[in-house]
Amino acid sequence: MKIIDLTKNNSRTQDRLLPAVDAIKNGNLVVIPTETVYGLAADCFNISAVNKIFLVKNRPYSDPLIVHISNLRQLHQVVKYIPENAKKIIKVFWPGAVSLVLYKKSSVPDIVTAGLKTVCIRMPENEVTRKFIELCGTPLAVPSANIFSRVSATDISHIIKDFDGVKEIKYVIYTGRPKYGIESTVIDCTSYPFRVLRYGAVDIEEIKKKCKVEIIEQKRIFQKKSPGMFKKHYAPIKPTYVSFNITKYIKTVTKEELNNVTIVCSKKTKDKLREILKDGSSVITYGNTLKEIAKNLYLCLRLAEEMDTKKIVVEATKMSGLGKTIMDRLLKASEGKIV
Ligand code: AMP
Ligand code: MG
Repeated sequence: MKIIDLTKNNSRTQDRLLPAVDAIKNGNLVVIPTETVYGLAADCFNISAVNKIFLVKNRPYSDPLIVHISNLRQLHQVVKYIPENAKKIIKVFWPGAVSLVLYKKSSVPDIVTAGLKTVCIRMPENEVTRKFIELCGTPLAVPSANIFSRVSATDISHIIKDFDGVKEIKYVIYTGRPKYGIESTVIDCTSYPFRVLRYGAVDIEEIKKKCKVEIIEQKRIFQKKSPGMFKKHYAPIKPTYVSFNITKYIKTVTKEELNNVTIVCSKKTKDKLREILKDGSSVITYGNTLKEIAKNLYLCLRLAEEMDTKKIVVEATKMSGLGKTIMDRLLKASEGKIV
C-alpha cells in the first residue's frame, strides 16, 4: 500500500495519480479521498475487483455500494432513467455529498447493488476524486475505507490501522482531512415523494427547500425504549454510550468508574465540567457547532478507542439539521445504549 500524498505539493497531480489509475485498470483497489470520508475504490464493472472490496472490508454482500462518477455521461452508463425531480437535486447538489438511488442498467453487476434493481450514485465534490475517476475512465464502486461496522476513516492513520499490509489495496491517495468528515446523505428516488435512506453531510431541509421536492423522512432516529432497533455500525471497538446530560452522568458515577471512561463532548461542556472532573479523567472535545462536531466525530471516536480506558461516553447533540446525522451515527455506534 503506497501513499500518494497530495497534501503538500499540488503540482503534477495528474502524473502522480497515474500509477493508482493503473491499479484500478488492473482490477485492484485504491483508497481515495472524498469530501465525506475516505473510500475504498474498484472499477464498478469489474466483478472480481468489486469482490475484493467485500473481502478486505469483511463486508456482507447484502450491503450495496455507492457508485461514484465524475460526469453525467457516466450517470447514463449506470442508470436506466432519471426522474425530473431527481434532476433538480442533481442540478443543485452535484458535485456534492448527496447520493441518489435510481433504477440501474443491467450492465451494473449485482455484486455492486446487493442484487437490487436499483443503484446508489453520487458525484463527489473533491476535485482530486473527480479527476481520478475521470482518469480511470469508469465509474467506481466505493464504500467507506474501513473494516465493516467500524468507525469510518478521516485520517491517514485510520486507513493504515485498518488496512496496512492488505495486498489488494495498491495505493492511498491522500488529500488531508475531509471537508465534512461524515458520510453522504442517501435519497431513494425510485418513487415519489422521495425517501431519506441515510441522513448525511447535507441537511434534508436544505435539499427540500432549494429543489422544491418532497422527501419523506424516517419516522424515528431515536427510540429510547428499544435499543435493538439500532444495527451496530460506525462503532468503536470499546463499549460506547450516548449521554444527553454529561454533568448529570458524571455526578451519578463513582470516581473509580469515571477513571475508566473517555468522555467525548463539546468544548462548552468540557469547560463546564472542569470543576467537577478530577485529574485523570479523559475528555476529548469534538467542537461546538454541528458542522465542527460532524467533521471531528469519527476522529474523536478513533482517538477514544486508543485511550487507556474501558468505555466511551459521547455527548448527544440536538436532533435537527446536521444533528440528525450525528445522532443517527451515535445511536448506531452505541447500539442505542444511553447513560
Ligand atoms: P458505505 O458503505 O458507508 O459507503 O454506505 C453505502 C450505503 O449506501 C449502504 O449501506 C446503503 O445504505 C446505501 N445504498 C447503496 N446502494 C443502495 C441501494 N441500491 N438501495 C438503497 N441503499 C443503497
Ligand atoms: Mg461505511
